[in-house]
Formats: sequence, structure tokens, C-alpha cells
Amino acid sequence: MDFTLSEEQKLVKDTAARIADEQLKPQAAHFDQTHQHPAEACESLGELGFMGIAVPEEFGGAGMDYVSYMLALTEISRGDASVGVIMSVNNSLYCFPVLTFGNQQQKEAFLTPVASGKKFGCYGLTEAGAGSDPASMRTTAVLDGDQWVINGEKKFITNGNIASYAVIAAVTDKDAGSKGISSFVVDLENTPGFSVGRVEEKLGINASGTAELVFEDARIPKENLLGELGSGLRQMLTTLDSGRIGIGSQALGIGKAVLEEALEYAAGREQFGRPISAFQAIQWKLADMATQLEAAEMLLLKAAWMEDQHVHFEKNAAMAKMFAADTAMAAAIEGVQILGGYGYTKEYPMERHMRDAKITQIYEGTNEIMRLVVARNLLKGK
Ligand SMILES: Cc1cc2nc3c(=O)[nH]c(=O)nc-3n(C[C@H](O)[C@H](O)[C@H](O)COP(=O)(O)OP(=O)(O)OC[C@H]3O[C@@H](n4cnc5c(N)ncnc54)[C@H](O)[C@@H]3O)c2cc1C
Repeated sequence: MDFTLSEEQKLVKDTAARIADEQLKPQAAHFDQTHQHPAEACESLGELGFMGIAVPEEFGGAGMDYVSYMLALTEISRGDASVGVIMSVNNSLYCFPVLTFGNQQQKEAFLTPVASGKKFGCYGLTEAGAGSDPASMRTTAVLDGDQWVINGEKKFITNGNIASYAVIAAVTDKDAGSKGISSFVVDLENTPGFSVGRVEEKLGINASGTAELVFEDARIPKENLLGELGSGLRQMLTTLDSGRIGIGSQALGIGKAVLEEALEYAAGREQFGRPISAFQAIQWKLADMATQLEAAEMLLLKAAWMEDQHVHFEKNAAMAKMFAADTAMAAAIEGVQILGGYGYTKEYPMERHMRDAKITQIYEGTNEIMRLVVARNLLKGK
């Protein structure tokens, strides 16, 4: 077994780490407090090819592997988890389905601008009444001549307020159950009947916009159907399998930020005439954090490697996302504890890490749903 990264993977990781330390970390508190979109940071990522890492160069991407994606996203999220999720959704939830299920013409028109970082993409599956159970969605798409007419509302859509394009799912045959759902790519800037609805106020990842997509008799060309009619739910779920490696990496990045800041604080803070890092109670917290983060990293690297090898990775992506998210949350809670009262204030980034970590247990499938996915895979054929 060889754990050595390739030269290219090392370069990607080091470049992302440099951006995290020099550009993202110093500004993260500002963007968290103002809820502003971190435009310059996203532009830098686009220039480096980080907005379409695994997309072939012919469609504007960097043409790298999913291990590189996992490494870059971890480092970027270590710098700022909001920038991490903007990058994750662009790569995993928009570029992936257009690349995987789109035809040549769709890739040229809809993938290139987003993978090159010039425009943002988003992904609309969730609705007010359809979260963990997306098959219960109500948004419809009806064919009228050479156009699809879309009606409905997508909720909690990351990048929804900044995106130029969306991949969305809608019911095309209400009698066909999960096989009556299709997916479409929508040019949000040129679709009459489309508007951005409410932008949510949230607990964390405040520099990442979460918005409603509203479709009222919105008309899109017939040829914007992605893949085959009726295969939308399967496509959206396959997309989420890949996306979970992204969210797991976001969680790992948050956990790494927690550990490095907790180590620094514990070594510098003195009580009872000694640094608090001399107390075994603090050492054990740090040791547990580091061990769990390393385990999360191994699970994520394995899942990303499996995706690169084109082997079935649904179970591994779910395990990695679930474990990394639970690890980040637990680490952040202990991180605040290690900093004591200072951890509870905005003088240090620790309280932000705790707020940011929470979402990783919820989106792209809650951690309860992750356990269902793992169990379903274990019980297959039993
Ligand atoms: C900040 C943010 C960004 C998001 N970005 C996007 C996006 O870009 N695109 C998009 O489509 N969606 C997005 N979402 C939606 C997100 O994926 C959903 O919120 C999530 O899947 C959970 O759905 P829900 O909120 O409806 O919760 P529910 O499904 O109502 O779940 C509520 C609780 O019940 C549990 N539960 C539900 N079913 C089961 C079950 N069968 N067994 C055990 N427990 C169960 C859940 O685990 C959870 O604890 C985002 C959400 C947020 C908050």
C-alpha cells in the first residue's frame, strides 16, 4: 500500500493550502459577519481551475482526479468553510451532472462557463415538502411544443442567489413515481418566469448564499432535458454520491482548522503556572481529535480514489461524509471547550467553526440518511 501523493496532487494541495492561509483565513470572520459573497476568493479559485477540478480541459476544467478535488476542497474549507461549499456545489452538484449526463452540445454551452470559474452553477433538488424524500417533489415540467414549462419552488439552494445556471429535477409523469422525475439544465439569466426567492438567514456558512429558486410558467428549450426522460431522480442521487466526498472534505477542512487552532491556543494559554497543554485532560481531547480527523481523511481519500477507479463508491462516500461530519462537529465542540470563555466569543474563529460544522451533518443527505445508505449497501442480497 502506497500512501504517497503524486506530484500533481501535492501541488494542488499546497496551492490550496497557501490560498487558505494567505487569502481565506484572514477574511473569513469578515465575510461571516457581513454575509457577503466572497467574490475575489472565488475568482482566485476559478483562475486556478478549482471550480471545475475534475472536468476535462476541453470543457474549461482542470482535468484532474477526484483525489485532487478532495485534497483541494479540504484545504480551502480549512481556510473558510463558506468558500468550501461554494466550490463544492459548483464542482460536485453542477459540473458533475452536466459532465456525466449531458450531451456534447449541453457540455459546451452549460459546463464550460461554470467549470472555468466565470459563472456559478447550482443544484435544485430540495423543496419545502421534499428533503430527505426527494421523490415526493411537486415541481413539474410539462412539454409544450418545443419548450418545457416549469412550475414549482426549490428550497435551500446553495449558490442560488449567485448562479447563472442550475441543474434541477421536476416531475414529468406524475403517475410513474420515482421514474416520473427528470432533470434539466436551466439558464437562470435567460429564463422568463424564473426568479430568486428568499435568501435564508442561517446559523453558519454565512458567506454562502442559500436561496429559493422560483419557477412560474418558466420556459426552457426542449433540448435542456438532461439525459433520458424519467431518469432524473437516479441522476440526482448519483450526483449526491459524488457530492458527499465534497461535503466530507468540507467537514475535514473545518476539523483541521479546529485542531490547529486548539493546539496553538493550548500551548500558549497558561493556568496554574503551566500551559493548559500540560494537562492530560486537554492532551486527550487533542489526541482524540487528531485520531478521528486522520480516520476521516483516510475514508475520504479511499472514497475519492474509488471514484477515480470507476468502482461502486456509494457506501464509501456515505461513510466518509457521515464520519467526517460527525468528527468535525465533535472536534469543534471540544475546540470551544479548550479555548474556554474565549472559545465562546467572536475574538477567536472557534465559535464559527462550531456553527459551520453543524451543516455538514445535514446537507447532501442528513447523517441519519447516510446511515440508511450504508445499511442498505450492507444488507444488499441478504
Ligand atoms: C445551508 C443549506 C444548503 C443546502 N443546499 C442545498 C442545495 O444546494 N441543493 C438542494 O437541493 N438542497 C440543499 N439543501 C437541502 C438539504 O439537503 C436538506 O435540508 C436535507 O437533505 C434535509 O432535508 P430537510 O431539511 O427537508 O429535512 P427532513 O427530511 O424533513 O428531515 C428532518 C429530520 O428527520 C430525519 N429523517 C428524515 N427521514 C428519515 C428517515 N427515513 N430515517 C431517519 N431519519 C429521517 C432527518 O435525518 C432529519 O434529522 C441545503 C440545506 C441547507 C440548510
